[in-house]
Amino acid sequence: MRNESVALFLVDQRMPQMSGIELLEQAMPMFPNAQRVLLTAYADTDAAIRAINSARLQYYLLKPWDPPEEKLYPVLNDLLDDWLASFRPPFEGIRVVGNRWSPQSHQVKDFLARNQIPYQWLDIELQEAKQLVTYAESDCKAQLPLVLFPDGERLVKPSNVQIAEKIGLRTQAERPFYDLLIVGGGPAGLAAAVYGASEGLSTVMIEREAPGGQAGSSSRIENYLGFPSGLSGGDLARRAVAQARRFGVEILTPQEAKGVRIEDPYRIVSLADGSEISCHALLIATGVSYRKLDVPGMDRLYGAGVYYGAAMTEAIACKGEEVYVVGGANSAGQAAMHFSKYAEHVTMLVRGESLTKSMSQYLIDQIESTPNITVRPCCSVVEVHGETSLEKIVVADSSRKLAVAR
Ligand SMILES: Cc1cc2nc3c(=O)[nH]c(=O)nc-3n(C[C@H](O)[C@H](O)[C@H](O)COP(=O)(O)OP(=O)(O)OC[C@H]3O[C@@H](n4cnc5c(N)ncnc54)[C@H](O)[C@@H]3O)c2cc1C
Repeated sequence: MRNESVALFLVDQRMPQMSGIELLEQAMPMFPNAQRVLLTAYADTDAAIRAINSARLQYYLLKPWDPPEEKLYPVLNDLLDDWLASFRPPFEGIRVVGNRWSPQSHQVKDFLARNQIPYQWLDIELQEAKQLVTYAESDCKAQLPLVLFPDGERLVKPSNVQIAEKIGLRTQAERPFYDLLIVGGGPAGLAAAVYGASEGLSTVMIEREAPGGQAGSSSRIENYLGFPSGLSGGDLARRAVAQARRFGVEILTPQEAKGVRIEDPYRIVSLADGSEISCHALLIATGVSYRKLDVPGMDRLYGAGVYYGAAMTEAIACKGEEVYVVGGANSAGQAAMHFSKYAEHVTMLVRGESLTKSMSQYLIDQIESTPNITVRPCCSVVEVHGETSLEKIVVADSSRKLAVAR
């Protein structure tokens, strides 16, 4: 469960409860690349020879092996050299096993990605993923996503708060009172946190999803002062968080501000977990939320082929596929550019007659010179369909008639 490698099994044939060959036969499917050596007595020679086939035994050593410098170590060295030659180190971080079309899996991936936590995604269709689920004794269908941590611990269908606790994010304030309390960890909140704390104010910032806000979901920001070749929103967020922490800002995430009351001279903010923090100055930098596409089928298929601003999380999974991006402003333009690196083809559905009214010129230029992006003006999605995941969208083309895209 810890994703550790085994280089070599050195197994005695005569053990209590099970024989060495039985152990090797069972270990083989789990560690197919490990070398296998059996220690045998003279009487076990036949069994050892049979095990060359049944347990893919590489070597059997007759006991006693004295002197080891002559009889044991050279054999082991040789086998270990062989193993090392083709060894690929396993991934050492968090692994997420889930169904690509499940909203809960998307939520876990999105939370980890937006908090800059590297993870390996294992689709349940893969044999490796199925095997892990069996080892974890979790029911494939009902108990996914399964999140496996490098220390061997696992969480089944976890909430963001459970994951946050496990990876060491802080959700509770250290003190009851701060000079400055900021609600929202987008660029505005982070900038305020840096300036406040750098002036010596005790500062706490509360963010309900992940520091970076909307900007954190951007694949490439090219018009931010000071970054001439652009940077990803994740990179911007990581730098801003590091800068804020350096000045001593406490960042609570995921944590949500639910209410505010004033008891002069204090402002008291109540949080989603029921706790309260008071402060002298309260700065609200909660930004905006995505406008939802209000058409039949959208809510049901959210997280199962329909996503809001999820280019950074989903693009890799769309290798060789058809992607439709709804919208014609800068976020849609960035998403189309990012998806075009992975998808077979990207179609932008734009309500207006062209991109010029809503999109920055630098993005229009990039889109025009990307051969696998098509812009369809005067088009809007009117329905989405699919049993368990998105299969079909219905597009109204106001310049022509109704079209169906599969
Ligand atoms: C995909 C995308 C690409 C973009 N690209 C660019 C670009 O290239 N250049 C550019 O200039 N701009 C870009 N923008 C716009 C830019 O990101 C926003 O203008 C900017 O993020 C606004 O910052 P903000 O801090 O005001 O709000 P937001 O970024 O919206 O942050 C608000 C934060 O407050 C949190 N919050 C809300 N309510 C609560 C609560 N009750 N408790 C706790 N936390 C709460 C939210 O979770 C959020 O993280 C892009 C936006 C998107 C979505």
